[in-house]
Amino acid sequence: LAAQRVAVRPEEIRRHNLSQLLRSIHQHGELTRADLTAAMGLNRSTIGALVSDLVALGLVTEYVPSGRDRAGRPSHVVAPRPDGPYVLAVEVAVERIVTAAVGLGGTVHDRRVTAIDNADRLPQAVAGQIVSDAAWLADRLPGSQGAVGVGVSIPGTVRRRDGFVEHAPNLNWRAVPFAALLAKRMPRHLDVQVGNDADLGAVAEHQRGAAIGYDNVVYLNGSVGVGGGIIAEGAQLHGAGGYAGEIGHMTVNPDGPPCHCGSTGCIETYIGEHALLRAAGVTDQHGPKVVAAVFAEAAAGDRRAVDAVHTVATWLGRCLANVVNCFNPQAIVVGGSLAEVVRLDRVSVEAELDRRAMAAARAGVQVLLPGLDEDSALIGAAELAFGNLLASPDEMVTSLAAT
Ligand SMILES: [Zn+2]
Repeated sequence: LAAQRVAVRPEEIRRHNLSQLLRSIHQHGELTRADLTAAMGLNRSTIGALVSDLVALGLVTEYVPSGRDRAGRPSHVVAPRPDGPYVLAVEVAVERIVTAAVGLGGTVHDRRVTAIDNADRLPQAVAGQIVSDAAWLADRLPGSQGAVGVGVSIPGTVRRRDGFVEHAPNLNWRAVPFAALLAKRMPRHLDVQVGNDADLGAVAEHQRGAAIGYDNVVYLNGSVGVGGGIIAEGAQLHGAGGYAGEIGHMTVNPDGPPCHCGSTGCIETYIGEHALLRAAGVTDQHGPKVVAAVFAEAAAGDRRAVDAVHTVATWLGRCLANVVNCFNPQAIVVGGSLAEVVRLDRVSVEAELDRRAMAAARAGVQVLLPGLDEDSALIGAAELAFGNLLASPDEMVTSLAAT
């Protein structure tokens, strides 16, 4: 047994450390060897050997910073290789598909945005667009080592274990095995992972956005639909099947308007874009441009638009009060077009929080705007796609070389 332990463990430890080292560099963008030595609690020669392994795998590069005139030898900086492997991050939204090539460190190398309408929202059409975007991006990044995985953000409930979309009401998808469907069409059998947009947004805002450093975070993503993602004690709250966080479908009035989900009086029917447009008296049009026009009118002081934003902001405050009472977060990040509601009428949002949330939890929460602007779900999709590479860098690079 002792002999076996000696034979097996060093390699296991090396692989674990290699994964941890790559995670640190991915998280921080770049780090000095001295930072890595301190952060990982390993000696300098071990860090040196691990960095050499990552350099040999083509994942990171090292340089000596110039202009730093400190005593002793300057510490080498370890950074992701700009031409290293990337992931394809995809955001499928109601009105558009965004496909981006994202490198280690979270750098968006390039992206393609396609506006979509009814027929383009069919699952096969969406998959076809993503395959075409992947080829377009590969052409734009000729020197790169290529894609190592695909992460897709969907505005709906997604089964965690296999990326099966149970229901995406605003895309009109029910029971779509989207991860499998897309994987079949992707070249080189690229691994495809699918997640809920708000769950992915929560991860991205927690790792790289407005909620860095907070362990209890709720991300509320509201445009046409309203979804939520929850980070509890530093970890994502998935629920049994992966369906947790559907904050938009919290019932606030059983006699309220019908909701796409099949119920009535969900908070989404009071704070989603259709509610804003209804309150502003716009009944014959929809879409991002129409919503932006209402916000512009409100900013300019138009009475009806101001009142519409106030109505939505008040309901948003009630929604957030429920969220505060349920989850006691330190930060709530409000994204999508609801971010604009907070910008225009934060006072009404905070007033409802004051009125309705339990005092102790209310006192400890901040309402924040996204640090990643419109890209929260997209960057979260990239993080999902990086999972395999970060877990076992050498295996992934070997399999990449074999294809
Ligand atoms: Zn609903």
